[in-house]
Amino acid sequence: MVSKNSMRLEFLGCAQNESFARVVISAFAVQLGPTIEEITDVKTAVSEAVTNAIVHGYEGTQGTVVLSACVEDEHVLSVTIEDAGKGIADVEKAMEPFYTTQPEMERSGMGFAVMQTFMDTLEVASVPGEGTRVRMTKRFGADA
Ligand code: ATP
Ligand code: MG
Repeated sequence: MVSKNSMRLEFLGCAQNESFARVVISAFAVQLGPTIEEITDVKTAVSEAVTNAIVHGYEGTQGTVVLSACVEDEHVLSVTIEDAGKGIADVEKAMEPFYTTQPEMERSGMGFAVMQTFMDTLEVASVPGEGTRVRMTKRFGADA
């Protein structure tokens, strides 16, 4: 039996690493033989989660973000983004479209909605004061 392929990457939560994370997840997802659209979907979703870790989780402080990914089977990619930042008190509310705690920063509250739209599953686990973990999966070749 072939074991599942996986990767784990730890990086500093700073703005430059948002594009770094997008490149890394694209490179890892190539083995699933994705369409351009599928790659764009995954990149966009990962980007939203990493941005959230940086701007909300760490809020101007510096902390570590962990991006991990796993090929669940030949066609399914799972991606996890974790931070050890401030956490979310009410996850259900945070996931509502247009809900944001940073309206003054011109955030639209659409990050989780974007993740939901571009991926097949989205799970958010968070403990206030400890951090947040976002896990998403996507099936490739679904339209084929
Ligand atoms: P946008 O993504 O449109 O710029 P936003 O980031 O506020 O706006 P979402 O990404 O949907 O919108 O997140 C909703 C809210 O959930 C955030 O305003 C924030 O309060 C909270 N949140 C999301 N991710 C985290 C995180 N990693 N740590 C702490 N709080 C978070
Ligand atoms: Mg966001």
